[in-house]
Amino acid sequence: MKLFLASGNAHKAAELQGLAVAAGLPVEIVSARAVGGMPAVEEDTGTFVGNARKKALALRARLPADAWALADDSGLCVDELGGGPGVESAYYAGPEGDGAANLAKLVETLRGVPEARRGAHFICVLVVAGPEGAEQVFEGKCPGRLSHEPRGGAGFGYDPLFVPDGHALSFSELGDAIKSTLSHRARAWAKLAEWLRRR
Ligand code: IMP
Repeated sequence: MKLFLASGNAHKAAELQGLAVAAGLPVEIVSARAVGGMPAVEEDTGTFVGNARKKALALRARLPADAWALADDSGLCVDELGGGPGVESAYYAGPEGDGAANLAKLVETLRGVPEARRGAHFICVLVVAGPEGAEQVFEGKCPGRLSHEPRGGAGFGYDPLFVPDGHALSFSELGDAIKSTLSHRARAWAKLAEWLRRR
């Protein structure tokens, strides 16, 4: 089965293909580039599911009748910020979507917030949209805490600040091999994989 990925990001297609291979799934993740690119979509619904759904349906409209589109949306929800930056995670520090600036802003915003109030979780939503309006939604959540200072060099975005439950090290310090066993993305993907297996 082919899943056309609703993203212009080739890195994302490669990452998801890696997860598919690791799970032993006979699935080919195809970049939206193969069908003329990802149509422009404003991620303005205010929810992870709404945004992912909007992207999946926009790409699905470009595909052959029997093909499926896959879209994702993810972000960091911080307890102290009432769940923010949430769907705005990529643009927390401004419209340029600068990961280092986002991280620095979060460190400063939470300066002085005590240990007990530093809870947070990552969320990833995957939506597949197929023939005749078929849709499925899969959500993965990774609970944890935010350290006071960034730690470790690996990963991206908020990884250096996020310490997943059950661990003392940040996502950046843990590295991709461990992160990929417990991340929000891995958990959402596991649910999608289960659905693919049943089909
Ligand atoms: P999107 O799902 O590509 O829209 O990304 C949302 C934003 O959430 C990213 O730009 C990051 O700021 C943040 N984010 C999502 N997943 C992760 C992660 O695994 N590590 C660090 N930051 C993440």
